[in-house]
Amino acid sequence: MKKINKQESPQWFEDWKKNFKMENNREPHYKNDFSTDDIDGVNRRRKLRECLVDEQGKICCYCMRKITTDSSHIEHFLPKDSFEDKDLQYDNLFASCNGEETIREDEDHCGHRKNDWWRKDMLSPTDMEVEKAFKYSLNGKINSVRGRTTENIAQEMIHNLGLDSYHLERDRRQALEASEVFDAEEYSEEEIRSFIEYYSNKDNGAYVPYCKAIIDCLEEML
Ligand SMILES: [Zn+2]
Repeated sequence: MKKINKQESPQWFEDWKKNFKMENNREPHYKNDFSTDDIDGVNRRRKLRECLVDEQGKICCYCMRKITTDSSHIEHFLPKDSFEDKDLQYDNLFASCNGEETIREDEDHCGHRKNDWWRKDMLSPTDMEVEKAFKYSLNGKINSVRGRTTENIAQEMIHNLGLDSYHLERDRRQALEASEVFDAEEYSEEEIRSFIEYYSNKDNGAYVPYCKAIIDCLEEML
């Protein structure tokens, strides 16, 4: 996972919540209030997805797959049914890919697979630890890092978010093969460090999909 740097909640989003509260004399909730079935609800969700996708550099908050406003959904890190007081709190909202259109539920991943699952110590995409607790290898596999205090929760997240799904392993392997990691050329330490720098930052507002997997493998080359 790649750490997400959350920005301030968008003004229009805060204004909408404030207005709702004034008009209805109660706090709004995601279901039924923000996410209504009418055109206003559709537009609000789209506008929020747009903010989140941009904030995340156009990659999924869990698997780093490339996402757009149309190929993502609003993900509640702490599930909206269990944490009603956080269902419209901006720092609990992310953009997740839509996983796979598959009949096998165990092949799905990210927000749809996670669904209502949560654990008190699960790692938020805003936590620096997400870049340390998971490690990717050349074959596209993901593992929890042994010996860290987060080893157990990281392992459970891999399973419950389907980060070890066949589709993601395959896509990560392809991203690695297209990167400098598989180049025949012998790169100097300085060159490798400049590649790491490149994959660590947004380019034109976007991260390279699966960037953290590429960074892990480049670091192994040092
Ligand atoms: Zn994803």
